[in-house]
Amino acid sequence: MRADLNRNHLVPPTGIRNLGILAHVDAGKTTVTERILYLAGAVHRRGEVHEGTTVTDFDPLERDRGITIFAAAVSCLWDGHRINLIDTPGHVDFSDEVERSLRVLDGAVAVFDAVAGVEPQTESVWRQADRYGVPRIAFVNKMDRAGADLDTAVESIRRRLRIVPLVVQLPIGREDGFAGVVDLLRMRALVWEAGRDTVTEGPVPEALADEARRRRRLLEETVAELHPAALEEFCARPEISTPTLSAALRDLTLRGEAVVVLCGSAYRDRGVEPLLDAVVAYLPAPPDVPPVRDGAGQERPADPAAPFAGLVFKVHAAPTGRLTYLRVYSGTIRRGDVVLDAGARRTERIGRILRVQADRRTETDRATAGDIVAVAGVKAARAGATLCAPGAPLVLEPPVTASPVVSVA
Ligand code: GDP
Repeated sequence: MRADLNRNHLVPPTGIRNLGILAHVDAGKTTVTERILYLAGAVHRRGEVHEGTTVTDFDPLERDRGITIFAAAVSCLWDGHRINLIDTPGHVDFSDEVERSLRVLDGAVAVFDAVAGVEPQTESVWRQADRYGVPRIAFVNKMDRAGADLDTAVESIRRRLRIVPLVVQLPIGREDGFAGVVDLLRMRALVWEAGRDTVTEGPVPEALADEARRRRRLLEETVAELHPAALEEFCARPEISTPTLSAALRDLTLRGEAVVVLCGSAYRDRGVEPLLDAVVAYLPAPPDVPPVRDGAGQERPADPAAPFAGLVFKVHAAPTGRLTYLRVYSGTIRRGDVVLDAGARRTERIGRILRVQADRRTETDRATAGDIVAVAGVKAARAGATLCAPGAPLVLEPPVTASPVVSVA
């Protein structure tokens, strides 16, 4: 397990992934989130939805209703990267809250049920994510279910979401016998077992070798059609090296021109590990997305040394007091700093700065550009408020852009 247990260590903006998980109710968002937090060491016991012990669901009301109503941001470390998971409610009645969460995300994982494929709510949050220019990867979950079929689910992604799917894994085993995946980039097999906290990496099983080669070829051909550098290599060789392929997948993801598709099962203990690797590999860090702007066109870069600017995206009445969830876009905040609520023209004092892990909150001495934290002590700022350095005021516009993502070629 590569979880870094020093949970408070400072990660540079390039190492941060601010991530949302989008899904139709019941596709497995809560379970996938749990597995991510478990694997990334943020929780030491696994929550199970049916036991009512999941740790992303903060509110008793949510536990009773079994749906995620209120967004909560949780933070974990994976392979030296900080992954901030912003929970986006999937329930259709709460789409305002989905939109608010989408403002502060840099990337998202769309979770699909391997039997149902694309469902109406996924389609609507997918369109919202389009509007906010959020780069996405797709995770086809529940591969262990009777009737699960990756190809059918992928076809529904192509048809209903009208995006080119780039399938980077081949499942090993079907339904109950689903045992792992062939990673088509590294051409290695990853096999895990239900109820066992192990994953075995090895060569592609003989019986799947031809199919794996065929699918790798298909992936290369599809990427070559979309990506000039990949095409160049494809024509010269003709094949695409894994580093070029991987860079092209990231590029296409950031431009929103295609979607990388992985598959798995949150019921397999280590089943979301390749998903975490894909999050780090393909989804953007804060400096990869355009800087936020105010109405006058002032920009704030994702630079810890720039004047502070942040957006309040959720206020949570916790038993211990008011917690203000803040996306820091630029600059650095420390405990005791006086900041300006620019819209309300009121100053606020930053109290304790907390990183919300799944089952506890830990204090950190500062938060820097690109990060997401919860701040205590802020008295009146509401969701949607801009907090900024008093000497450099601005009111952030919702960062909705037509062409949201920068090329990283
Ligand atoms: P959410 O509504 O999207 O948050 O979905 P949940 O995580 O609550 O999952 C919905 C149901 O699907 C629950 O009963 C889960 O136990 C079940 N589930 C989640 N992941 C898997 C999976 O990989 N395989 C199977 N068979 N069931 C799953």
